Amino acid sequence: MKLLDGKICAESLVADVAVKVNGYIASGLRKPHMTVILVGDHAPSESYVKSKIVSCRKAGFDSALLRFPETVSESELLAAITAINADPSTDGLIVQLPVPQHINPQNIINAIAPEKDIDGFHPTNFGRMTLGQKAFRPATAYGICKLLQFYEITVKGKHCVVIGRSNIVGKPISIMLSNDFDIGNATVTLTHIETPRELLLDETRRADIIVVAVGIPGFVTEDMVKEGVVMIDVGINRLENGSLVGDVDFTRVSSKCSWITPVPGGVGRMTVAALMINTLMAYQNNFDLT
Ligand code: NAP
Repeated sequence: MKLLDGKICAESLVADVAVKVNGYIASGLRKPHMTVILVGDHAPSESYVKSKIVSCRKAGFDSALLRFPETVSESELLAAITAINADPSTDGLIVQLPVPQHINPQNIINAIAPEKDIDGFHPTNFGRMTLGQKAFRPATAYGICKLLQFYEITVKGKHCVVIGRSNIVGKPISIMLSNDFDIGNATVTLTHIETPRELLLDETRRADIIVVAVGIPGFVTEDMVKEGVVMIDVGINRLENGSLVGDVDFTRVSSKCSWITPVPGGVGRMTVAALMINTLMAYQNNFDLT
């Protein structure tokens, strides 16, 4: 078993971004700029936002964090997004999810200008990605593809099973792995909560690559996988003792895997790296750079 080390891969990708940014700055351009909106004091969100800001610094970007209280209204948030959309000094905008219950997340996503939507969640980007057109690709799914590419894992022609169909992970990764992309051309099965258990087992037991994003610790067990499977564990679950675990029973499953992502230090790091790549792309689009 070998580790798909998201930390090593992300550091390498962010360093590549920084080299490009240094070149642009040397030619007289301003730095790329990412703005993050954070609502409330959700502890995991605080930590995700912190790692995005740290990564911006490593990439040579400027960043701004706009905080709103838990009680902010949807219209106040939409007004802030409209203002950032119109501000030419911001290349990329993220609204850290989840937002409080009284705010409809889809209204928030829809309000972000597609050209600043570095999370790749806006219907324009999601649609373009689905059609195989140039777009900001959803960051976690894009990060997974970059990780597979970094470790030269063959995807073309493989049988991939995705567990979980969320708009931010399961759905986009199933589309990206099946599209005719640089990392793609796999045969993909997307499973979800209505997939009968026997069907799920049939699929996972013959999968070459499994991507799991359900948010249930230990969901993937040893009996569900074949020898040599490549396992991508997207889950981030905090246990009562404070430790972070994924959706895979790592101790028992990892010995059957050819490759596996650790949690932490796997997909999470890649999500942030993909955001840096998307922000660089937004900046390059702004300045007509190739
Ligand atoms: P989500 O929106 O809650 O979606 C979970 C998906 O899993 C849903 O599609 C659900 O099906 C499916 N599901 C639930 N129970 C299932 C079961 N028993 N069998 C098959 N499918 C089942 O979650 P998410 O946002 O995708 O996140 C999933 C996990 O990934 C969480 O732990 C989250 O923290 C983590 N995450 C990590 C990153 C990262 O950067 N590493 C990024 C995003 C999320 P239904 O649609 O039918 O309900």
